[in-house]
Amino acid sequence: MSEQKQYGFTTTILHSDRQKEIEHGSVHKPIHTSVMFGYKDARDLAAVFQGKQSGYRYGRQGNPTVTALEEKITKMEDGASTITFGTGMAAIGAVFQALLRQGDHVVSSAFLFGNTNSLWQTVSTQGVDVAMVDATDVANVVAAITPSTRMVFVETVANPRTQIADLKRIGEVCRERGILYVVDNTMTSPYLFQPKTVGAGLVVNSLTKYIAGHGNVLGGALTDTGLFDWAAYPNIAANFRKQASAQQGMSQVRAKALRDFGATLSPEAAHQIAVGAETMALRMERESTSAMALATMLAADPRVAVVHYPGLASHPQHQLASELFRSYGALFSFELKPEIDCFDYLNRLSLAINATHLGDTRTLVIPVAHTIFFEMGAERRAAMGIADSLIRVSVGIEDTQDLLTDFAQALTPVL
Ligand SMILES: *Cc1c(COP(=O)(O)O)cnc(C)c1O
Repeated sequence: MSEQKQYGFTTTILHSDRQKEIEHGSVHKPIHTSVMFGYKDARDLAAVFQGKQSGYRYGRQGNPTVTALEEKITKMEDGASTITFGTGMAAIGAVFQALLRQGDHVVSSAFLFGNTNSLWQTVSTQGVDVAMVDATDVANVVAAITPSTRMVFVETVANPRTQIADLKRIGEVCRERGILYVVDNTMTSPYLFQPKTVGAGLVVNSLTKYIAGHGNVLGGALTDTGLFDWAAYPNIAANFRKQASAQQGMSQVRAKALRDFGATLSPEAAHQIAVGAETMALRMERESTSAMALATMLAADPRVAVVHYPGLASHPQHQLASELFRSYGALFSFELKPEIDCFDYLNRLSLAINATHLGDTRTLVIPVAHTIFFEMGAERRAAMGIADSLIRVSVGIEDTQDLLTDFAQALTPVL
Protein backbone atom coordinates (compact mmCIF):
# COMPACT_ATOMS: atom_id res chain seq x y z
CA MET A 1 0.00 0.00 0.00
CA SER A 2 1.65 3.19 -1.10
CA GLU A 3 1.78 6.10 1.30
CA GLN A 4 0.81 8.64 -1.39
CA LYS A 5 -2.47 7.09 -2.51
CA GLN A 6 -5.72 8.50 -1.11
CA TYR A 7 -7.81 5.65 0.24
CA GLY A 8 -11.15 5.77 2.03
CA PHE A 9 -11.52 5.91 5.82
CA THR A 10 -11.72 2.17 6.55
CA THR A 11 -9.07 1.13 3.98
CA THR A 12 -6.65 3.62 5.52
CA ILE A 13 -7.26 2.37 9.07
CA LEU A 14 -7.07 -1.32 8.13
CA HIS A 15 -3.75 -0.99 6.37
CA SER A 16 -2.03 1.66 8.46
CA ASP A 17 0.15 -0.79 10.46
CA ARG A 18 1.54 -2.23 7.24
CA GLN A 19 2.99 1.15 6.30
CA LYS A 20 5.32 0.86 9.25
CA GLU A 21 8.21 -1.53 9.61
CA ILE A 22 6.63 -5.01 9.59
CA GLU A 23 7.90 -7.37 12.29
CA HIS A 24 7.99 -11.04 11.20
CA GLY A 25 5.22 -10.36 8.72
CA SER A 26 2.81 -9.44 11.51
CA VAL A 27 -0.34 -7.91 10.06
CA HIS A 28 -1.30 -6.46 13.44
CA LYS A 29 1.23 -4.26 15.18
CA PRO A 30 2.67 -6.62 17.84
CA ILE A 31 2.03 -5.90 21.54
CA HIS A 32 5.34 -4.73 22.97
CA THR A 33 5.26 -5.30 26.71
CA SER A 34 8.76 -4.08 27.58
CA VAL A 35 8.78 -1.08 29.92
CA MET A 36 12.44 -0.29 29.22
CA PHE A 37 14.23 0.00 25.90
CA GLY A 38 17.90 -0.96 25.79
CA TYR A 39 20.71 0.45 23.65
CA LYS A 40 23.99 -1.28 22.71
CA ASP A 41 25.83 2.02 22.64
CA ALA A 42 25.32 4.15 25.74
CA ARG A 43 25.84 7.23 23.55
CA ASP A 44 22.63 6.37 21.68
CA LEU A 45 20.76 6.22 24.98
CA ALA A 46 22.09 9.67 25.85
CA ALA A 47 21.19 10.99 22.37
CA VAL A 48 17.60 9.75 22.81
CA PHE A 49 17.37 11.47 26.21
CA GLN A 50 18.72 14.68 24.72
CA GLY A 51 16.25 14.60 21.82
CA LYS A 52 19.05 14.32 19.25
CA GLN A 53 17.90 10.88 18.14
CA SER A 54 14.44 9.36 18.06
CA GLY A 55 13.84 6.24 20.14
CA TYR A 56 11.94 4.85 23.10
CA ARG A 57 13.18 5.15 26.67
CA TYR A 58 10.51 4.18 29.18
CA GLY A 59 6.96 2.88 28.73
CA ARG A 60 5.27 5.77 30.49
CA GLN A 61 6.24 8.18 27.69
CA GLY A 62 5.74 5.89 24.71
CA ASN A 63 5.82 2.39 23.29
CA PRO A 64 5.83 1.04 19.69
CA THR A 65 2.33 -0.53 19.98
CA VAL A 66 0.96 2.72 21.37
CA THR A 67 2.73 4.73 18.66
CA ALA A 68 1.06 2.59 15.97
CA LEU A 69 -2.35 3.47 17.43
CA GLU A 70 -1.40 7.15 17.71
CA GLU A 71 -0.49 7.19 14.02
CA LYS A 72 -3.81 5.53 13.18
CA ILE A 73 -5.73 8.20 15.09
CA THR A 74 -3.70 10.94 13.42
CA LYS A 75 -4.82 9.51 10.06
CA MET A 76 -8.48 9.34 11.20
CA GLU A 77 -8.37 13.02 12.18
CA ASP A 78 -6.18 14.10 9.23
CA GLY A 79 -3.94 15.59 11.92
CA ALA A 80 -0.24 16.18 12.47
CA SER A 81 0.34 14.07 15.60
CA THR A 82 -1.49 12.29 18.42
CA ILE A 83 -0.81 11.41 22.05
CA THR A 84 -2.88 8.67 23.66
CA PHE A 85 -3.82 8.37 27.34
CA GLY A 86 -5.30 5.75 29.64
CA THR A 87 -8.78 7.32 29.37
CA GLY A 88 -10.58 10.13 27.58
CA MET A 89 -10.67 12.14 30.82
CA ALA A 90 -6.88 11.88 31.07
CA ALA A 91 -6.63 13.40 27.58
CA ILE A 92 -8.85 16.32 28.65
CA GLY A 93 -6.95 16.67 31.94
CA ALA A 94 -3.70 16.79 29.94
CA VAL A 95 -4.86 19.92 28.15
CA PHE A 96 -5.18 21.67 31.50
CA GLN A 97 -2.06 20.25 33.11
CA ALA A 98 0.21 21.01 30.18
CA LEU A 99 -1.22 24.06 28.48
CA LEU A 100 -2.91 26.32 31.04
CA ARG A 101 -1.50 28.46 33.80
CA GLN A 102 -2.85 30.30 36.81
CA GLY A 103 -4.76 33.40 35.69
CA ASP A 104 -5.76 31.95 32.33
CA HIS A 105 -9.34 32.13 31.15
CA VAL A 106 -11.19 29.41 29.25
CA VAL A 107 -14.51 29.69 27.44
CA SER A 108 -16.33 26.36 27.51
CA SER A 109 -19.61 25.07 26.24
CA ALA A 110 -22.07 24.65 29.13
CA PHE A 111 -23.44 21.48 27.52
CA LEU A 112 -20.73 19.07 28.54
CA PHE A 113 -19.94 15.50 29.41
CA GLY A 114 -20.64 15.28 33.17
CA ASN A 115 -17.08 14.47 34.25
CA THR A 116 -15.63 17.27 32.12
CA ASN A 117 -18.09 19.59 33.85
CA SER A 118 -16.78 18.33 37.19
CA LEU A 119 -13.16 18.80 36.06
CA TRP A 120 -13.95 22.43 35.18
CA GLN A 121 -15.17 22.96 38.76
CA THR A 122 -11.82 21.63 39.97
CA VAL A 123 -9.65 23.79 37.72
CA SER A 124 -11.74 26.80 38.74
CA THR A 125 -10.41 26.29 42.28
CA GLN A 126 -6.85 26.08 40.92
CA GLY A 127 -6.59 29.52 39.34
CA VAL A 128 -7.98 28.87 35.87
CA ASP A 129 -11.24 30.71 35.29
CA VAL A 130 -13.78 28.82 33.16
CA ALA A 131 -16.76 30.66 31.63
CA MET A 132 -19.58 28.28 30.71
CA VAL A 133 -21.72 29.49 27.81
CA ASP A 134 -24.39 28.21 25.45
CA ALA A 135 -22.02 27.47 22.55
CA THR A 136 -24.79 26.75 20.07
CA ASP A 137 -24.58 30.51 19.34
CA VAL A 138 -21.15 31.97 18.59
CA ALA A 139 -22.30 35.33 20.02
CA ASN A 140 -22.24 33.82 23.53
CA VAL A 141 -18.67 32.64 23.02
CA VAL A 142 -17.54 36.03 21.70
CA ALA A 143 -19.21 37.82 24.64
CA ALA A 144 -17.34 35.65 27.15
CA ILE A 145 -13.86 36.15 25.66
CA THR A 146 -11.51 38.29 27.77
CA PRO A 147 -7.89 39.39 27.18
CA SER A 148 -6.82 36.35 29.28
CA THR A 149 -8.76 33.81 27.21
CA ARG A 150 -6.33 31.14 26.07
CA MET A 151 -8.72 28.42 25.01
CA VAL A 152 -12.24 27.70 23.79
CA PHE A 153 -13.46 24.18 24.55
CA VAL A 154 -16.55 22.60 22.99
CA GLU A 155 -17.99 19.19 22.27
CA THR A 156 -19.36 18.45 18.81
CA VAL A 157 -22.71 16.99 19.87
CA ALA A 158 -23.54 17.35 23.55
CA ASN A 159 -24.70 14.37 25.52
CA PRO A 160 -27.56 13.76 26.38
CA ARG A 161 -29.55 16.63 24.77
CA THR A 162 -27.61 16.57 21.46
CA GLN A 163 -27.06 20.33 21.23
CA ILE A 164 -24.49 21.09 18.53
CA ALA A 165 -21.93 23.83 19.08
CA ASP A 166 -21.64 26.57 16.46
CA LEU A 167 -18.50 24.73 15.39
CA LYS A 168 -17.56 26.62 12.24
CA ARG A 169 -18.12 30.18 13.50
CA ILE A 170 -16.36 29.48 16.79
CA GLY A 171 -13.42 28.23 14.73
CA GLU A 172 -13.35 31.50 12.78
CA VAL A 173 -13.39 33.57 15.98
CA CYS A 174 -10.55 31.50 17.49
CA ARG A 175 -8.45 31.85 14.35
CA GLU A 176 -8.96 35.64 14.19
CA ARG A 177 -7.97 36.06 17.83
CA GLY A 178 -5.24 33.43 18.03
CA ILE A 179 -7.11 31.42 20.70
CA LEU A 180 -6.52 27.68 21.00
CA TYR A 181 -9.67 25.86 19.83
CA VAL A 182 -10.14 22.46 21.48
CA VAL A 183 -12.95 20.21 20.21
CA ASP A 184 -14.05 17.01 21.95
CA ASN A 185 -15.00 14.82 18.97
CA THR A 186 -16.03 11.76 21.01
CA MET A 187 -19.74 11.91 20.14
CA THR A 188 -19.26 12.25 16.40
CA SER A 189 -16.02 10.24 16.08
CA PRO A 190 -13.55 11.06 13.30
CA TYR A 191 -15.66 8.99 10.93
CA LEU A 192 -18.60 11.41 11.08
CA PHE A 193 -16.61 14.62 11.52
CA GLN A 194 -13.06 15.96 11.55
CA PRO A 195 -12.80 19.09 13.77
CA LYS A 196 -9.80 20.19 11.71
CA THR A 197 -12.30 21.18 9.00
CA VAL A 198 -13.67 23.91 11.31
CA GLY A 199 -10.28 25.13 12.48
CA ALA A 200 -9.72 23.14 15.70
CA GLY A 201 -6.13 23.19 16.95
CA LEU A 202 -6.53 20.21 19.26
CA VAL A 203 -9.01 17.33 19.03
CA VAL A 204 -10.01 15.15 21.98
CA ASN A 205 -11.34 11.63 21.48
CA SER A 206 -12.41 9.17 24.13
CA LEU A 207 -11.21 5.96 22.46
CA THR A 208 -13.41 4.05 24.91
CA LYS A 209 -16.52 4.99 22.94
CA TYR A 210 -16.97 4.64 19.16
CA ILE A 211 -13.32 4.15 18.19
CA ALA A 212 -12.77 0.99 20.30
CA GLY A 213 -16.50 0.33 20.19
CA HIS A 214 -16.98 -2.87 22.19
CA GLY A 215 -17.12 -1.71 25.82
CA ASN A 216 -14.03 -3.72 26.77
CA VAL A 217 -11.23 -1.15 26.95
CA LEU A 218 -10.58 2.44 28.10
CA GLY A 219 -8.47 4.99 26.24
CA GLY A 220 -8.20 8.64 25.21
CA ALA A 221 -6.38 10.70 22.61
CA LEU A 222 -5.33 14.24 21.90
CA THR A 223 -4.59 15.10 18.27
CA ASP A 224 -2.77 18.22 17.10
CA THR A 225 -4.33 19.20 13.77
CA GLY A 226 -1.31 21.32 12.83
CA LEU A 227 -3.44 24.46 12.48
CA PHE A 228 -2.49 26.22 15.72
CA ASP A 229 0.58 28.46 15.89
CA TRP A 230 2.37 27.23 19.03
CA ALA A 231 5.15 29.81 18.61
CA ALA A 232 2.55 32.46 19.47
CA TYR A 233 1.17 30.59 22.51
CA PRO A 234 2.39 32.21 25.74
CA ASN A 235 2.33 29.05 27.88
CA ILE A 236 5.13 27.13 26.18
CA ALA A 237 8.09 26.68 28.55
CA ALA A 238 11.56 27.73 27.43
CA ASN A 239 12.96 24.22 26.86
CA PHE A 240 10.13 23.39 24.42
CA ARG A 241 10.70 26.68 22.56
CA LYS A 242 13.93 25.21 21.20
CA GLN A 243 11.90 22.88 18.97
CA ALA A 244 10.20 23.73 15.69
CA SER A 245 6.98 25.67 16.28
CA ALA A 246 4.80 22.79 15.04
CA GLN A 247 6.19 20.43 17.71
CA GLN A 248 6.12 22.73 20.73
CA GLY A 249 2.58 22.10 21.95
CA MET A 250 2.58 18.31 21.77
CA SER A 251 6.13 18.00 23.14
CA GLN A 252 5.02 19.95 26.17
CA VAL A 253 1.87 17.81 26.53
CA ARG A 254 3.87 14.56 26.27
CA ALA A 255 6.34 15.69 28.93
CA LYS A 256 4.19 17.75 31.29
CA ALA A 257 0.98 15.72 31.14
CA LEU A 258 1.73 12.18 29.95
CA ARG A 259 5.20 11.74 31.49
CA ASP A 260 4.70 13.76 34.68
CA PHE A 261 1.12 12.72 35.47
CA GLY A 262 1.48 9.21 34.07
CA ALA A 263 -1.99 8.38 32.72
CA THR A 264 -0.42 6.16 30.06
CA LEU A 265 -2.33 3.86 27.71
CA SER A 266 -1.14 0.27 28.06
CA PRO A 267 0.14 -1.57 24.94
CA GLU A 268 -2.51 -4.27 25.46
CA ALA A 269 -5.25 -1.62 25.49
CA ALA A 270 -3.72 0.05 22.42
CA HIS A 271 -3.95 -3.26 20.56
CA GLN A 272 -7.61 -3.79 21.53
CA ILE A 273 -8.50 -0.24 20.51
CA ALA A 274 -6.71 -0.68 17.16
CA VAL A 275 -8.70 -3.86 16.45
CA GLY A 276 -11.97 -2.19 17.42
CA ALA A 277 -11.21 0.83 15.23
CA GLU A 278 -11.09 -1.35 12.11
CA THR A 279 -14.89 -1.64 12.10
CA MET A 280 -15.77 1.83 13.36
CA ALA A 281 -17.16 3.06 10.03
CA LEU A 282 -19.32 -0.05 9.62
CA ARG A 283 -20.65 0.25 13.17
CA MET A 284 -21.33 3.97 12.88
CA GLU A 285 -23.27 3.47 9.64
CA ARG A 286 -25.53 0.81 11.14
CA GLU A 287 -25.94 2.63 14.46
CA SER A 288 -26.80 5.93 12.75
CA THR A 289 -29.38 4.22 10.54
CA SER A 290 -31.02 2.57 13.55
CA ALA A 291 -30.87 5.78 15.62
CA MET A 292 -32.69 7.63 12.86
CA ALA A 293 -35.35 4.91 12.64
CA LEU A 294 -35.89 4.82 16.41
CA ALA A 295 -35.94 8.61 16.80
CA THR A 296 -38.43 8.94 13.94
CA MET A 297 -40.71 6.26 15.37
CA LEU A 298 -40.66 7.70 18.90
CA ALA A 299 -41.15 11.30 17.69
CA ALA A 300 -44.34 10.22 15.91
CA ASP A 301 -45.79 8.47 18.97
CA PRO A 302 -48.33 10.40 21.09
CA ARG A 303 -46.95 8.81 24.28
CA VAL A 304 -43.59 10.47 23.73
CA ALA A 305 -43.20 14.13 24.77
CA VAL A 306 -40.02 15.04 22.89
CA VAL A 307 -37.11 13.40 21.05
CA HIS A 308 -33.68 15.03 20.79
CA TYR A 309 -31.78 13.81 17.73
CA PRO A 310 -29.87 15.92 15.18
CA GLY A 311 -31.32 13.83 12.34
CA LEU A 312 -34.85 15.08 13.00
CA ALA A 313 -35.94 18.21 11.12
CA SER A 314 -37.30 19.52 14.45
CA HIS A 315 -33.79 19.61 15.98
CA PRO A 316 -32.58 23.24 16.36
CA GLN A 317 -29.22 22.50 14.71
CA HIS A 318 -30.47 20.01 12.11
CA GLN A 319 -29.14 22.14 9.23
CA LEU A 320 -25.72 22.49 10.80
CA ALA A 321 -25.52 18.73 11.43
CA SER A 322 -26.50 18.05 7.79
CA GLU A 323 -23.80 20.41 6.60
CA LEU A 324 -20.96 19.21 8.86
CA PHE A 325 -21.48 15.54 9.71
CA ARG A 326 -21.41 12.43 7.53
CA SER A 327 -24.50 11.18 9.38
CA TYR A 328 -26.40 12.14 12.52
CA GLY A 329 -24.81 9.71 14.92
CA ALA A 330 -25.82 6.90 17.23
CA LEU A 331 -27.07 8.76 20.29
CA PHE A 332 -30.43 10.33 21.02
CA SER A 333 -32.55 11.10 24.06
CA PHE A 334 -36.26 11.38 24.68
CA GLU A 335 -38.87 12.20 27.29
CA LEU A 336 -42.01 10.17 27.79
CA LYS A 337 -45.35 11.79 28.56
CA PRO A 338 -45.92 11.96 32.34
CA GLU A 339 -48.35 9.01 32.18
CA ILE A 340 -45.48 6.59 31.58
CA ASP A 341 -42.85 6.24 34.30
CA CYS A 342 -39.38 6.25 32.77
CA PHE A 343 -38.14 3.47 35.08
CA ASP A 344 -41.09 1.26 34.11
CA TYR A 345 -40.38 1.92 30.46
CA LEU A 346 -36.69 1.03 30.82
CA ASN A 347 -37.56 -2.17 32.67
CA ARG A 348 -39.93 -3.22 29.87
CA LEU A 349 -37.14 -3.02 27.26
CA SER A 350 -35.70 -6.47 26.66
CA LEU A 351 -32.77 -5.79 24.30
CA ALA A 352 -31.53 -2.44 25.57
CA ILE A 353 -29.31 -2.69 28.64
CA ASN A 354 -29.62 -0.31 31.62
CA ALA A 355 -26.00 0.84 31.75
CA THR A 356 -23.87 3.95 31.59
CA HIS A 357 -21.59 4.12 28.55
CA LEU A 358 -22.10 4.93 24.92
CA GLY A 359 -20.67 3.85 21.60
CA ASP A 360 -21.02 0.15 22.35
CA THR A 361 -22.12 -2.56 19.92
CA ARG A 362 -25.09 -3.22 22.25
CA THR A 363 -27.88 -0.71 22.73
CA LEU A 364 -27.60 0.99 26.14
CA VAL A 365 -30.21 3.12 27.94
CA ILE A 366 -30.04 5.26 31.06
CA PRO A 367 -32.36 7.59 33.05
CA VAL A 368 -30.00 10.59 32.91
CA ALA A 369 -31.22 12.81 35.78
CA HIS A 370 -31.14 9.92 38.26
CA THR A 371 -27.69 8.62 37.35
CA ILE A 372 -24.93 10.38 35.38
CA PHE A 373 -26.31 13.88 36.04
CA PHE A 374 -27.56 13.20 39.57
CA GLU A 375 -24.46 14.58 41.33
CA MET A 376 -24.73 18.05 39.78
CA GLY A 377 -28.12 18.75 41.35
CA ALA A 378 -31.53 19.89 40.13
CA GLU A 379 -30.61 23.51 39.47
CA ARG A 380 -27.73 22.76 37.12
CA ARG A 381 -29.76 20.00 35.42
CA ALA A 382 -32.53 22.50 34.75
CA ALA A 383 -29.99 24.94 33.26
CA MET A 384 -28.77 22.16 30.97
CA GLY A 385 -32.33 21.26 29.91
CA ILE A 386 -32.27 17.83 31.51
CA ALA A 387 -35.75 16.75 32.57
CA ASP A 388 -36.31 14.12 35.28
CA SER A 389 -37.84 11.74 32.74
CA LEU A 390 -35.10 12.08 30.10
CA ILE A 391 -33.86 8.74 28.74
CA ARG A 392 -30.58 8.56 26.84
CA VAL A 393 -30.18 5.89 24.20
CA SER A 394 -26.83 4.77 22.80
CA VAL A 395 -27.82 2.74 19.77
CA GLY A 396 -25.89 -0.45 19.09
CA ILE A 397 -25.49 -2.65 16.03
CA GLU A 398 -28.47 -4.96 16.67
CA ASP A 399 -30.77 -5.45 13.66
CA THR A 400 -32.77 -2.27 13.23
CA GLN A 401 -36.14 -4.03 13.16
CA ASP A 402 -35.42 -5.79 16.48
CA LEU A 403 -34.71 -2.43 18.12
CA LEU A 404 -37.85 -0.84 16.65
CA THR A 405 -39.95 -3.72 17.97
CA ASP A 406 -38.38 -3.54 21.44
CA PHE A 407 -38.74 0.25 21.86
CA ALA A 408 -42.35 0.13 20.54
CA GLN A 409 -43.54 -2.76 22.78
CA ALA A 410 -42.16 -0.99 25.87
CA LEU A 411 -44.47 2.01 25.20
CA THR A 412 -47.44 0.10 26.63
CA PRO A 413 -49.94 0.65 28.11
CA VAL A 414 -51.72 2.48 25.32
CA LEU A 415 -53.07 5.75 26.69
C1 LIG B 1 -16.90 9.37 27.68
C2 LIG B 1 -16.52 10.75 27.31
C3 LIG B 1 -15.33 11.31 27.77
C4 LIG B 1 -14.41 10.59 28.72
O1 LIG B 1 -13.88 9.44 28.17
P1 LIG B 1 -13.39 8.21 29.11
O2 LIG B 1 -12.64 7.37 28.12
O3 LIG B 1 -14.60 7.55 29.65
O4 LIG B 1 -12.52 8.79 30.16
C5 LIG B 1 -15.03 12.60 27.37
N1 LIG B 1 -15.83 13.30 26.55
C6 LIG B 1 -16.98 12.79 26.09
C7 LIG B 1 -17.82 13.62 25.18
C8 LIG B 1 -17.37 11.49 26.44
O5 LIG B 1 -18.52 11.01 25.99
